[in-house]
Amino acid sequence: MDEKTERGGISIELEHIFPIIKKWLYSEKEIFLREIVSNACDAITKLRRLNSLGEADADLSSAKIWVELDKDAKTITVIDSGIGMTEEELKKYICQIALSGALDFIQKYEGSENDAQSTGIIGHFGLGFYSAFMVADTVDVITRSYQGGPVVKWTCGEDGNYEITPDYEDEENYLGDFGTAVVMHINEEGEEFLSAYRIKEILNKYCAFMPEEIYFDDGEEHTHKDGDGKDVPDEDKPVNDTHPLWLKNPSDCTEDEYKDFYRKVFSDWKEPLFHIHLKADYPLNFKGILYFPRIGSEFDSLEGQVKLYYNQVFVADNIKEVIPDYLLMLKGVLDCPELPLNVSRSYLQNSGYVQKISQHITKKVADKLNSMFSTDREGYEKIWRDLKTFVEYGSLKDRKFYDRIKGSVLLETTEGSFRTIDEYLETAKEKHENKIYYATDVTAQSNFVKMFRDAGIEVAVFDRIIDTQFFGVIEETREGVKFARIDAEVADVLKGEGEKTEFPAVAELFKSAAGENVKVSFEQFKDEGTPAVLNVPEEMRRMSDMMKLYRMGGDFPVEQTLILNTASPLIRKLNDMTSSAGEGEENKEAKALARQIYLLASLSQRQLTADELVEFLSGSYDLLNKTV
Ligand code: ADP
Repeated sequence: MDEKTERGGISIELEHIFPIIKKWLYSEKEIFLREIVSNACDAITKLRRLNSLGEADADLSSAKIWVELDKDAKTITVIDSGIGMTEEELKKYICQIALSGALDFIQKYEGSENDAQSTGIIGHFGLGFYSAFMVADTVDVITRSYQGGPVVKWTCGEDGNYEITPDYEDEENYLGDFGTAVVMHINEEGEEFLSAYRIKEILNKYCAFMPEEIYFDDGEEHTHKDGDGKDVPDEDKPVNDTHPLWLKNPSDCTEDEYKDFYRKVFSDWKEPLFHIHLKADYPLNFKGILYFPRIGSEFDSLEGQVKLYYNQVFVADNIKEVIPDYLLMLKGVLDCPELPLNVSRSYLQNSGYVQKISQHITKKVADKLNSMFSTDREGYEKIWRDLKTFVEYGSLKDRKFYDRIKGSVLLETTEGSFRTIDEYLETAKEKHENKIYYATDVTAQSNFVKMFRDAGIEVAVFDRIIDTQFFGVIEETREGVKFARIDAEVADVLKGEGEKTEFPAVAELFKSAAGENVKVSFEQFKDEGTPAVLNVPEEMRRMSDMMKLYRMGGDFPVEQTLILNTASPLIRKLNDMTSSAGEGEENKEAKALARQIYLLASLSQRQLTADELVEFLSGSYDLLNKTV
């Protein structure tokens, strides 16, 4: 060791910090590379700024960052042609870490759960550099300031003891005229990172959009065959895109660029439905692109992916403290340089800034949907099924979102047309004011659907659980408007004119045919063809659905009413049979018919149980046999 070599020990605190950094970031060791590469990036950016301020005149035409893997030497080296450091600066920035704030913070949160946020915390307390010690037992910094002067080397072990060599001969030729090389001597814990595949993966995840060109060299020659089958070296290409699409002006971006970007970032070959390019100026100051993926059926995963960046440096996916959870169904990128990532998640949750970001996004999303609705209704209807889940879920989670979007909410009818709530109610005004009829299973309820169709009433399809929760929002916000499933009641429009009659003997007959839990009543329908329907009161059925949904034990008893149609010739015939006959053959026949009618009414509302089905089939055969 020559005389000039200076020794030192990084403050007591640092000794304490090393184990904490290791412990804290244990599950996300890979971020060390993000920290070191983003420092390298900053170093170039800083020098660019000095150039533009006229304080430096450095040649940055080929400024870049190299990440080098040497498996034999077990090193990962990050070299930049950036601002570099003088010995003084090295001591100031690297040795005397601005610990006060960070220490306070760490003491406060030590022991709290390790989560994605901590990766941001380290980076923004000026500790990012030290994350190298998660994977390295020794780290060298070899640097030369853009202002000239000698190359300085700093070597630090994992115990926090360092050496500075002020006049270092840069034998490896890491540096050009200026810049910094950080050599990490990888320890056992970091061995997984001595893999080109792994490094590329990490660079892809965190550094794909960093603002300076990054090249990766794994020490091997990479070739491809040219047209004549000859091996030619691969073109040296940066691993990152320094000008990500979200930074561009929306008016300068083409549809293809948006689609390519989506494909590249999310590796999703299904085309997104559309995108929203966000650009919020001061004071929010964030940018991003959100895509609507095709959600389709309820069975598809609803989880999207919103990637959060901090000045083009990837921070984490799906930070739900920043993005309202229904927006997490979307896919996209958000770059928020103002985001206070150096604070805890609970702070983020209550931060006014974060709330404003999500309000802004919510507004933009609603604006986009409203504008598609009003400018291209046909196109909007085509994608409504994909949008529906999102709109419904968003409305359930955020009333403000619903308020903005409510004019563009569509009801799809059993006939395949689309109506807004207003349009539906307008058509309904005369026949069933303020009532929206819906079906939850168009096949099972097809008999009801037919009755409504014949009566000229539109029926909305709400066939998913979330649909039925969603109309609760509409009922709450629109006074007087009620939703009723088509089997909830006999709609007035289905009723015929004339006096309501009751057939007491028939009522008795059906009470025994249908069992105790079923009430029997009479109504005169316009339609003669249906002898009876089963009604389930709306509120009770909703309760029962909810209990089933949340598996709240047992069956909620739903009171059903069997409504007999006095206009039906069959019911009239039964009335004759029961009033004239005694205990004879005719009465037996009437009972069998009543049972069969009850099963039919059940069938047009729900699936029969296995026993019911067997009974229904043999009853039907008996009836058919009588006709031959
Ligand atoms: P932060 O980057 O958040 O300030 P770090 O611990 O990562 O915290 O780095 C501390 C300081 O060390 C930086 O602010 C910078 O001044 C200096 N530094 C780190 N890496 C480099 C580099 N590659 N080139 C020049 N300076 C650097």
